[in-house]
Amino acid sequence: MWKKEHKEFDTCPNCGSKKLLAKMAQQEAIERGLVKPGRKFFLYLFEGTPLDRADFERMLVGSRSPVVSAKIDMCTECGALVGREYDKGEAVKTLTRDIPNLPPQGMVR
Ligand SMILES: [Zn+2]
Repeated sequence: MWKKEHKEFDTCPNCGSKKLLAKMAQQEAIERGLVKPGRKFFLYLFEGTPLDRADFERMLVGSRSPVVSAKIDMCTECGALVGREYDKGEAVKTLTRDIPNLPPQGMVR
């Protein structure tokens, strides 16, 4: 993916708490030495093109497709789902991957 836009959030937009479930587990795992510092935990990750299958299949191989990723956590104070990070960019359609909600080959993190 050629990243054009990246943003991170660390506060629940509903109640203002910073007590996010996956982020707390991430801190605990780092403090206990289970994972290296800098490793990030999320409850859910979506990554791929937002195009529907018909639109994606009409695209020619080699065309650039918009791609997005969204990393989701949950607030432990109010239960709201919290988007912690997102990326928006582009990727090139190839012959080997044509499933709309999977990232096209060639995506780079
Ligand atoms: Zn909250």
